[in-house]
Amino acid sequence: MKDAVRDVGELCRLLDLPQRFADQAAEAAHDFPLFVPRPFLARMRLGDANDPLLRQVLPLDAETILAEGFTLDPVADAAASLQPGVLHKYHGRALIVTTGACAVHCRYCFRRHFPYHETPRSVNQWQRAIERIAADESIHEVILSGGDPLTLVDDLLARLADRLAEIPQLRRLRVHTRLPIVIPQRVTGELLDWLTDTRLTPIVVVHVNHAAEIDTAVVESLSRVVSAGIPVLNQAVLLRGVNDDAETLTELCERLIDLRVIPYYLHQLDRVAGAAHFEVSIARGQEIIRQLQARLPGYAVPRFVQEVPGAPHKVSLI
Ligand code: SF4
Repeated sequence: MKDAVRDVGELCRLLDLPQRFADQAAEAAHDFPLFVPRPFLARMRLGDANDPLLRQVLPLDAETILAEGFTLDPVADAAASLQPGVLHKYHGRALIVTTGACAVHCRYCFRRHFPYHETPRSVNQWQRAIERIAADESIHEVILSGGDPLTLVDDLLARLADRLAEIPQLRRLRVHTRLPIVIPQRVTGELLDWLTDTRLTPIVVVHVNHAAEIDTAVVESLSRVVSAGIPVLNQAVLLRGVNDDAETLTELCERLIDLRVIPYYLHQLDRVAGAAHFEVSIARGQEIIRQLQARLPGYAVPRFVQEVPGAPHKVSLI
């Protein structure tokens, strides 16, 4: 992560892109800076401003245009906050915002305006969050989210998992992470050790939007997780100019299934301020899913869903 590219001018030089892309990015990158790890950058095509991986991370002046209906908190995280760092939206599950750090900055991120500075930053600071979860006997699953929880060191995460495992009613521990994709070397033996040592059933949910994100190192990282006996699911976001056609999503789903990863969700874009240029209409998404249904076995077709504030579960769009 220390080696990640944080300067748009440098990104443009490395990818043989005209300087004008760097010039227009300044305002968009001010509040939500560029952050691209080099293993992810290495999968982008040189000289192609429309590269689907580049589009996910390149700040554009389009982000600064106010769009009606696009807000700072599109999924009502604030309303679901039990206390700083703990969200409770759906029955039986609680989510811990373990960190605000990510190994990549996705321009469409629904938490790009999240008040991460208010959340706990150490196991001791998480104690109140853990006590809050322990006090609710209906919670059976904890989701480690963020930011990306795997930006934290394994020793810290192992201690957090130990504390959570002491809560008798908890059964599952889910980890939402993009790190096995953007820096696949993050899948270490230590990571697999704490994930498999806990009495809780571990589930890893990764985030891949396009088959070009999956290179040899990612194949290896995902294979290590799956081979450790941990279920791996993928969630993708339907993004204009990245994956908004049936061919691209068919290829992604096939690649995931080859790697024993379930293409679980295709999310309709959360309407976060700054991301309007990524939006694809729901009708177009439904049309794409119908094409996937005609091409793929049912288990390889992701559920097309939308997070609706206040709804008791993700809302199916088809
Ligand atoms: S990795 Fe996830 S949390 Fe982090 S910026 Fe991307 S979408 Fe947002």
